Amino acid sequence: MSIKNSLEAFKEAKKVIPGGVDSPVRAFKSVGGTPLFIQRGEGAYLYDIDGNRYIDFVQSWGPLIFGHCDKDIESSVIKAAKKGLSFGAPTTVETKLANEIVQMFDNIDKIRFVSSGTEAVMSAIRLARGYTNKDDIVKFEGCYHGHSDSLLVQAGSGAVTFGTPSSPGVPNDFTKHTLLAKYNDIKSVEKCFENSKDIACVIIEPIAGNMGLVPAHREFLKKLRELCDKNGALLIFDEVMSGFRADLKGAQGLVDTKPDIVTFGKVIGGGMPVGAFGARDEIMDKLSPDGPIYQAGTLSGNPVAMSAGLASIQKLKNTPNIYSELERKAKKLMDGFRSEAEKNGIPLQTCVKGSMFGFFFNENPVKNFDDALKSDTKMFALFHSKMIESGVYFACSQFETGFISTVMSDKMIDEVILKAKIAFKELKAEC
Ligand SMILES: *Cc1c(COP(=O)(O)O)cnc(C)c1O
Repeated sequence: MSIKNSLEAFKEAKKVIPGGVDSPVRAFKSVGGTPLFIQRGEGAYLYDIDGNRYIDFVQSWGPLIFGHCDKDIESSVIKAAKKGLSFGAPTTVETKLANEIVQMFDNIDKIRFVSSGTEAVMSAIRLARGYTNKDDIVKFEGCYHGHSDSLLVQAGSGAVTFGTPSSPGVPNDFTKHTLLAKYNDIKSVEKCFENSKDIACVIIEPIAGNMGLVPAHREFLKKLRELCDKNGALLIFDEVMSGFRADLKGAQGLVDTKPDIVTFGKVIGGGMPVGAFGARDEIMDKLSPDGPIYQAGTLSGNPVAMSAGLASIQKLKNTPNIYSELERKAKKLMDGFRSEAEKNGIPLQTCVKGSMFGFFFNENPVKNFDDALKSDTKMFALFHSKMIESGVYFACSQFETGFISTVMSDKMIDEVILKAKIAFKELKAEC
């Protein structure tokens, strides 16, 4: 397999773009390779600029639940684009998408659209602080909530991959308001509430997808809810990844706990840049222009992006059994991986939530960030490059989640298991 053109393109990119990429997770740094430059996508496949084809389990890091170039989303985008790309004035498609989402959740009366997950979460935190009149927030080690200042503390995703849990440029004065707790460990949250009477909110990925895939335990989320209520803090579910991915209703659809504020992104944009945050009236009405808490965006609710989101959400709602079917395929893939790894004496922990899946080269079950960090990242890097070589595109880090799309057939899954089988055999011989 030649990646000559990608190598050349990367060299050129690095001259004018830091690290040659516009988001660090794309850089293939932790697996020691070169990022592939993509020419196009089609269905379940990605094509790089050398003409190589890959089955794509990254799907733009989650949004593309219908695969590349879905006809319904594509045509709604083209139709919207022909009417003008942006107006900076309200359009009815925003209300339509808002209605589609609000109707699905008892705990969301209103929703506001922004242009990224980062923006959604940053705004949700401001809203929680403004609403409660408190400054501190609790976040969990290994959870990623975008790259805004207060949230870049022990963050997952790219921040783990590069071993820079916090970042230069973020003043201590900001992060001193961010209290850290351990995922799935309620005692660590109780401690935060003992140490501070000024906690505005607890923010969590109810299905963590940025330290690898690690779901929160039901009982843990229930206790979180109780702790927040007892202490007058809001509970925020960051469902930027899990929303419309784990289930039509996200993690919320799978557990009994209801958060006060929910953030969305990724799938609700259908591949276009969209984020959103929603809550009940009492909270949302505090936002400007109705309330005093300021939040804004020149391109927020952009009509092209909203049209992609609307097409995507409507299609999800209209496809019966979509999540159980996606989950069946994800389980098939992970069961196949685990059994082939086992045959070669390679310990592999696997996890599936709807269309999300994850695997750790780890001897023990992973329930928090510390456990995840004990994974064999060297083994992952080797596996990753072998899979790329054989035409399978996984996220280039042990600490990311994989995604199944509706256009992946059982035959494709079988094919990938077969390729993994060969990779595990080679790993056994080499390690
Ligand atoms: C991807 C992600 C974000 C950030 O979204 P961007 O669109 O990359 O800014 C925030 N929270 C979670 C849980 C995510 O997975």
